[in-house]
Amino acid sequence: MKQTRHPCLVLRPLPRFFRRFRLAGCFFGDLMVKVPICSFCAKTGTLCPNCDARLKRGEISDWDIQSSKVLVRLEKKYSNLAKTRLKQTIQTDEMVVLIVDRKMKEAFDQYPEINNTLQKELGRPVNTVLLENSMRDTFTSLFAPMEVLGVDQIFVPDGTKELKIRLKGDVSSLPLPLETMKTIAEKVAESLIRIDFV
Ligand SMILES: [Zn+2]
Repeated sequence: MKQTRHPCLVLRPLPRFFRRFRLAGCFFGDLMVKVPICSFCAKTGTLCPNCDARLKRGEISDWDIQSSKVLVRLEKKYSNLAKTRLKQTIQTDEMVVLIVDRKMKEAFDQYPEINNTLQKELGRPVNTVLLENSMRDTFTSLFAPMEVLGVDQIFVPDGTKELKIRLKGDVSSLPLPLETMKTIAEKVAESLIRIDFV
């Protein structure tokens, strides 16, 4: 009788470099959804020393941890989430905003259940913002339907830098209050933002 072998077992004769992937569970683990915490932490819900240190340094937040755990769990049901990426989770007064790549955005659009589950588990509305290749494109996606006419770096007299976004259109058409949009933009860009209306 032919024996069925787990795909990871074929790695046995390979050099140690490849074998170490088996320690993490499975070589094919890199198909997993990419989240701000490591896959061990996302799966087990316990923080490893590395992720714990990142949390203490403020590089990741509790919201990153919560949303990562839910997404990794949901990936088993919605395989479209595999190979997608959550860059960051931002919390505002009104909601949780996930900064995601295009593939994750598409998975959210295709399966509204993903958003519904996150919303239920995180206890507040969840919105996604598409992370584009450039900051300007990301802002264009964020501030739609308003038009982004330009993004410029400005030097403030105290020596710090800020980003100035020039927006055109109707402010009331924005999906969230302007102050919330500005907070999200600042966290995405990791810079203070100034908004000019043209
Ligand atoms: Zn970890």
